[in-house]
Amino acid sequence: MADYLGQETGLLVLNPVDDSELAVVRDWTVTEVEAAVEKAETAFGDWSKRTAKERSAVLTRWYNLIMEHQEMLARIITAECGKPLAEAWGEVAYGASFIEWFAEEGKRLYGDMIPAPGADKRIMVLKQPIGVVSAITPWNFPNAMITRKVAPALAAGCTAIVKPAEATPLSALALQKLALEAGLPEDCLQIVTTTKPADVGRVLTTHPTIRKFSFTGSTAVGKLLAQQCAGTVKKVSLELGGNAPFIVFDDADLEAAIKGAMASKYRNAGQTCVCANRFYVQDGIHDAFVARLTEEVEKLKVGDGAEEGIAVGPLINQAAVEKVDGLVKASIVAGGTAATGGGRHDFGENYFEPTVLTNLQHGEEISRAEIFGPVAPVFRFRDEDEVIRMANDTPYGLAAYFYARDLGRVFRVAEALEYGMVGINEGILSTEVAPFGGVKESGVGREGSHYGIDDYVELKYCLIGGL
Ligand code: NAD
Repeated sequence: MADYLGQETGLLVLNPVDDSELAVVRDWTVTEVEAAVEKAETAFGDWSKRTAKERSAVLTRWYNLIMEHQEMLARIITAECGKPLAEAWGEVAYGASFIEWFAEEGKRLYGDMIPAPGADKRIMVLKQPIGVVSAITPWNFPNAMITRKVAPALAAGCTAIVKPAEATPLSALALQKLALEAGLPEDCLQIVTTTKPADVGRVLTTHPTIRKFSFTGSTAVGKLLAQQCAGTVKKVSLELGGNAPFIVFDDADLEAAIKGAMASKYRNAGQTCVCANRFYVQDGIHDAFVARLTEEVEKLKVGDGAEEGIAVGPLINQAAVEKVDGLVKASIVAGGTAATGGGRHDFGENYFEPTVLTNLQHGEEISRAEIFGPVAPVFRFRDEDEVIRMANDTPYGLAAYFYARDLGRVFRVAEALEYGMVGINEGILSTEVAPFGGVKESGVGREGSHYGIDDYVELKYCLIGGL
């Protein structure tokens, strides 16, 4: 990392706890990024021709090195993104799990033989690496959002160029350093850090050599980048914003629902794409749920995530605090009540109080916007049809959660929710073995699982005649 850190001018990285300086990293120019694309293409020539077993061995060494350096990587995440250290440890293990998983999946990229329509013919389908891949990733999972894309790309035989978020380039650089130590050939994984995301992003979405673009971030930016990719008809995957409903039916196990709500809502100070964004609680259990949720939220310790026992750290920056504050204020003006919290936290400029809001109406802004903060708005509902209508009343479709014990209801609601992922009596869904992704304006494509490598290969149909 010596090449990157300690630059005199470049991209300034701050600790969101107090906006103190962590590092200055290289500011890649457009010309340098174009050169990186050419290098990735050259590296593809060798990497794609290695056997799957050889690639798997490199990925496995990378996985092992990451796990050996789990604490260092976790401290980097906490320093640049603010999430509590225990969560950062979890993110490193989660991120590494994709490398371990795809090291194995790469060995099973089987093609197909299809029965041909003539006795003298054979039909063969090959799966071949798509080529050079570009990726743009967000700050809220600065480690795992990279490995979730890069691991299947490398396992399939592709090479990759990643532009991490401006706020969190250090995790990306540390991952790259360990990949090189693991024996990944130079230029197979390039990290381009920049102060000019739009300019660098244009290269990564328009360069004809790049055949596949993978993005995780907001829906607005994802739409723009997908349009940019259209000019060279790249294969595109998008993991975008969410507006997850968290539904608690009268027959739910209240304590299980509270546990799930706390994990889903307050992890990373509410800054995850699959965070519960709106709580819908049925009449009969509503008051008990609000009382218990408030009790648990009041126990959350707010502070510097690097310190022991801190459950809620800072938001990423001032703009994030202002957005959350604006949404909460508007709800209170519209008649909402803060059962706890409701304003900025006095620990620091980038902090917001863990909050529970009640007496809200579905349809107001806080039920429509992605809050991205430690705020749980609770809405009351009467019956199943009504809550399914409200839950689906959004352009987003990433994750949804519900708590119920009636078996018929479990099936009906799971099938009716228009989401890519549904947690049933569970508040945390992500695992490398299952397909992660959204429907509607939450994205296209799936990451993780055996489906996750499909985006990085092309199918080639070969017809052999004259046999
Ligand atoms: P963002 O869209 O602002 O930024 C994401 C990335 O896009 C960053 O690297 C940024 O530099 C880059 N970017 C921004 N404008 C660009 C442009 N014009 N050209 C090229 N690149 C550009 O999102 P964010 O604030 O970093 O992350 C939060 C968002 O990400 C939320 O909406 C969240 O739901 C979403 N997210 C989704 C998933 C998922 O798996 N679906 C996971 C994590 C985060």
